[in-house]
Amino acid sequence: MNHDLDSTIQRQLAAAQNIVIVGHIRPDGDVIGSMLGLAHALRTDNRRVTCVLQDGMPEKYVFLPGASEVLTSVPPNYDYLIVVDSSDIQRTGQVLEGLPPANLVIDHHRTHDDFGLIEYVLPEVEATALILTRSIPSWGLTITKEAATCLLTGILSDTIGFRTGSTRPAALRAAADLMEHGADFHDVYQRTLSDKTIAEARYWGQGLTKIQQSDAILWSTLSLHDRILSRYQGNDDADLINLLSAIKGSLVTVLFVEQEDGIVKVSWRSVEGVDVSALARDFGGGGHMAAAGAEINGSLQDIQERVIHKTKRYLEALRLSGLKENLDD
Ligand code: AMP
Ligand code: MN
Ligand code: MN
Repeated sequence: MNHDLDSTIQRQLAAAQNIVIVGHIRPDGDVIGSMLGLAHALRTDNRRVTCVLQDGMPEKYVFLPGASEVLTSVPPNYDYLIVVDSSDIQRTGQVLEGLPPANLVIDHHRTHDDFGLIEYVLPEVEATALILTRSIPSWGLTITKEAATCLLTGILSDTIGFRTGSTRPAALRAAADLMEHGADFHDVYQRTLSDKTIAEARYWGQGLTKIQQSDAILWSTLSLHDRILSRYQGNDDADLINLLSAIKGSLVTVLFVEQEDGIVKVSWRSVEGVDVSALARDFGGGGHMAAAGAEINGSLQDIQERVIHKTKRYLEALRLSGLKENLDD
């Protein structure tokens, strides 16, 4: 931790009266948990705190305290703007267009592009919510029971229940601390990682029937038609990627999710030693070594061909450099 930076942030937060916290589009458990957790910690001092997600709050996370107060655009007259869990400003959608730069950006992506006045970016940390679990007390704020519940959601979401290769002991200790601050571990785990609606199960079913595997890559697609057939209300993959990436026998897993605006959302997951964040970045996205994504303009079929081709070439280059043989062992 950087003490000078922490005391600057502490001073700025103490002086702020009307704070806005913004997260990224297609929100996941980490961005929602980080945003709401920080809001709860800041609200203990009578500050006004507003949370903004362009896509609104997904049904899955409405159980979190404060979820019902999330707005879809930035209100006027705030005096301090914080952005969480977003590797670049485009990830927030259009909500920040025309506004002055964010006062504070808190993130953990290795592909992070600076866009705020203060950049609090720790790419080695497993979740933005984990950064906040440590930083909130060092900024002179308190982790309330409500904040603990939200932050635990973020940690469990980005580590998929402590099973990603990135998970280190400190993440488990932080989760234990959050339980001691009042978070219900079982309830949060269940709601974040286990519970599925029947529509999600049908949507998964559509994706599972289209699995393909070749050259150490496993992939599938979810079309807008699949969404309609399964009556799934979200615009994401309903976490199908976590199930696909658990299937053994591939180095990289890719999922293509067709969007309404002529865009395809691509998600990559990889085994240890294969960095997919650079691949995602080549397509205008970003992420982490083992989990990355991008939004690409074009048809589902076209994007699928381009991305699989490029992913194959990338693995080929790794094989030539000798890495894949090691991975195959
Ligand atoms: P996803 O496949 O959407 O679950 O994302 C995997 C990881 O990549 C997450 O940490 C995301 O924040 C990040 N990510 C996904 N899409 C993008 C994007 N378009 N730009 C930058 N990072 C992304
Ligand atoms: Mn996120
Ligand atoms: Mn995250």
